[in-house]
Order: sequence, then structure tokens, then C-alpha cells
Amino acid sequence: MKLLPSCREVRERLTDYSEGSLTFRERASMGLHLLLCSACAAFYRGLRALPGVARLLLSPEDPPPAEASRALQDALRRIRSRPR
Ligand SMILES: [Zn+2]
Repeated sequence: MKLLPSCREVRERLTDYSEGSLTFRERASMGLHLLLCSACAAFYRGLRALPGVARLLLSPEDPPPAEASRALQDALRRIRSRPR
């Protein structure tokens, strides 16, 4: 991985990044890109928000708080508006 990976490289590895299964150098490169690139940073926040939101929406006893559906809509909007 180059010192500053492309948006495409970053997005392909975001899952690994959030799971911590990258080398220190790869994590540093990803982190640097996420600091500099607001589109990828938004994409990463959306990705991280999704599992928690899905869990909230799937529990039938507790209706999802307004905050959770807002977070889901935000995440989906960010994912839809990502550059190709
Ligand atoms: Zn980017």
C-alpha cells in the first residue's frame, strides 16, 4: 500500500480497518487518508454506524429511538452519495 492510498483502495479495506486486521503501516495510511478525505471519512462513519443501527431496528420489544433511524438515514444517504 502506498503512503496515501486511493479512495478505492481505502473503501475496499475499510472493513479490515475497522476490525483492526491491518498492519500498523496500513492502518496509518488508511487513517491519514480518512483525515484528508471527507468523502471516505463519511463512508467509514456510515459503515461503522450500520451494525449498531441494524441491531436496534431488529429488536421488536423496543421501538427504535428517533436517534437510531436518523443515524440509519444518514448512513444510507452517505453510502448512496459516494463517488464512483
Ligand atoms: Zn478518499
